[in-house]
Amino acid sequence: MSDGTVELIHEPKLYIDGRWAPGGGADLDVENPVTEEVTGRITQASTDDVEAAVAAAKKAFPAWAATPVAERAAFLRRFSEVLKGRADTFADIVNREQGSPPRVARALHVDTPIAVVDATIDALEQFPFTAELGNSIIRREPVGVVAAITPWNLPLHQVVVKVVPAIAAGATVVLKPAGLTPLAAFELARAFDAARLPAGVFNLVPGSGRVVGDLLTRHPDVDQVSFTGSTPVGRTIAATAAQTLKRVTLELGGKSPSVVLSGASDDQLATAVKVTVANCFLNGGQTCTALSRLIVPADRLAQVEELAAAAAAKYVPGARLGPLISAEQRKEVQSFLEPGAGGAQAVTVTSQVELPERGYYVSPTVVSRVDPNSRLAQEEVFGPVLSILAAGSDDDAVALANNSIYGLGGAVWGPDDAALDVAARLQTGQVDVNGGAFNPGAPFGGYKQSGTGREIGEYGIADVCEIKAVQR
Ligand code: NAP
Ligand code: MG
Repeated sequence: MSDGTVELIHEPKLYIDGRWAPGGGADLDVENPVTEEVTGRITQASTDDVEAAVAAAKKAFPAWAATPVAERAAFLRRFSEVLKGRADTFADIVNREQGSPPRVARALHVDTPIAVVDATIDALEQFPFTAELGNSIIRREPVGVVAAITPWNLPLHQVVVKVVPAIAAGATVVLKPAGLTPLAAFELARAFDAARLPAGVFNLVPGSGRVVGDLLTRHPDVDQVSFTGSTPVGRTIAATAAQTLKRVTLELGGKSPSVVLSGASDDQLATAVKVTVANCFLNGGQTCTALSRLIVPADRLAQVEELAAAAAAKYVPGARLGPLISAEQRKEVQSFLEPGAGGAQAVTVTSQVELPERGYYVSPTVVSRVDPNSRLAQEEVFGPVLSILAAGSDDDAVALANNSIYGLGGAVWGPDDAALDVAARLQTGQVDVNGGAFNPGAPFGGYKQSGTGREIGEYGIADVCEIKAVQR
């Protein structure tokens, strides 16, 4: 299907204070990274629009914060139903603006955030908004206006994990979606409106990070900034936000390890390699928790290389493997495939793959014998490139796993007790032991330079609450 035969998605209006109105900023074209053609066009927010959105969120806050929990839960249940009813529409939009193949678009990009919404409703109904401590009542109160700034890799999910827990808590939101993938956010605004969210609780202001994102980060009436994206921009946001001492939640990059222990059976080893390749290549390698370093016992390296090469061969570009988001990202990822990026001993164990003529594809690549201190082992690639590192012992494997400025995701494979023990020693916000599944209610966030704060479910609600102690 070429975009020549598909109608443009046109979004000429912004959603501010419960109304759709033309934006004062320039129009922006949205490219489909599969066809390299324009697939949508949006209006962007002017600084006046941003001011109006913050004012609307501030005005809506007291009443929304005072809404009984049961009412907010009822709203979120209606919203969940709307999302489920429009799941195919969302998947189609994500497929067009982000390039994920239709099945990935539906399962990863749409069904996962829907599961997060439902888990957040459960968490809201149980949430300890008040507790007793001696002569104190401990109250958790929503922080006020939350500015959400989101990246392009998961255009719906990255928005939902910020916005839905904030709205559940009783906070109000101004969203700036990524300029490369703003279309899903417009459909999300329509879903909030259809679920009868009161005016001003959710506001949409697309625009560039340097203008709209920066203004939100500086704004005195924004009480918290919740950002997902690159570590350099995260540092800038933290520094800017410090001027008003507003609260900051950061979900940044990762270089997540998948550790195979010396006691792993051959079956566990085979599963570990298969799951790690799949996880690393998911979404074209563009996930923040990508298991991009496979750490294995040195004496099983040859076996692992063979298994990894076979697994990688199944990721056919244009079929199972989607493209990168842009020409710029492709160039960045290709820089990691140059000789020397993985150190002097590094060897590429995948064979050359043909790429479609159009689209920002990169060959799925597995590099073995990677030097632990090389650029390839240390930096986030954000593309379908897996590094294999050899460990002399399980202690060595833990040291290699923790040899990173990042600490977002991780995996351990081996006998259950030993694997749980190693999971406790990894400096990372999430660890999956022997293939443990994604939990849509579990806290999500990073150690070290992968960020601060936690999203999703109970912890996501707590993240946008102040804590007050009332003595009597
Ligand atoms: P990015 O530059 O960090 O952008 C993320 C969001 O922040 C976008 O909405 C962006 O707006 C906005 N932004 C940029 N500069 C800003 C500023 N000074 N103040 C406020 N907001 C600002 O990320 P990217 O360019 O999309 O991706 C670059 C790299 O980030 C990737 O290669 C990858 O390593 C990493 N990344 C990580 C994640 C993750 O989930 N951890 C997700 C995506 C990317 P624009 O619309 O102007 O871009
Ligand atoms: Mg950028």
